[in-house]
Amino acid sequence: MKKPLQIAIDGPAASGKSTVGKKIAENLNYLFFDTGLMYRVATYAVLEQQCPLDDEGKLADIISLADIQLQNNSQTGETDVLLDGKAITDLLHLPQVDANVSLIAAIPAVRKLLTAQQRKIALQGKIVIAGRDIGTVVLPEAPLKIFLLASAEKRAERRYLENLRNGIPSDYDEILYNIKQRDQIDSNRNVAPLKPAEDAILIDTDSLTQNQVADKIMSLIDQ
Ligand code: C5P
Repeated sequence: MKKPLQIAIDGPAASGKSTVGKKIAENLNYLFFDTGLMYRVATYAVLEQQCPLDDEGKLADIISLADIQLQNNSQTGETDVLLDGKAITDLLHLPQVDANVSLIAAIPAVRKLLTAQQRKIALQGKIVIAGRDIGTVVLPEAPLKIFLLASAEKRAERRYLENLRNGIPSDYDEILYNIKQRDQIDSNRNVAPLKPAEDAILIDTDSLTQNQVADKIMSLIDQ
């Protein structure tokens, strides 16, 4: 069978979408696109300009004027993010971004702007694209849609261990709290809430390693 051109991977915060998505993209020689980074850059831009979060018009202006660039770095395997030409990749997981990103992502005008940009990128070619609403809104026609599930505790543990490995100081309880907060806001917003598309394949990752999850998806692709 022909390989699907676009593979959508959705799921809640820290469910492994990026790690697994990158592995699949590498295996297939596809582009990997993490749409969460776009919401993070938008949040960073809004916080930097000290824009009140209830000023929807001004927020949308800041985001529409921002020059956001995502560049895959073949040396590190990571995505480098530039805002108005300035590298800000290391600033996108700061606690103040984590604490505000879901609030900003719930604003309809913000979603309208970013969804249009994401769809344009997604339609350019072979891509593994990760987010919350890829299978339902950004790319409902994607031939393969995956939705990753995992308990909040397991996700917090994974994020905590990942931070430890990367030498980033962090606190398990704080991570768990933030994950639960984001799940709550992401799942209950009016526009494009976090949920599996009707034809998505659900994978419960609680008892699987990320390599096993990637293998499962690869076998679905090869079927
Ligand atoms: O994937 P990540 O955890 O980095 O995403 C950060 C936040 O961006 C999410 O908690 C969610 O509020 C928002 N997001 C979204 N739709 C997407 C991707 C991310 O609302 N497609």
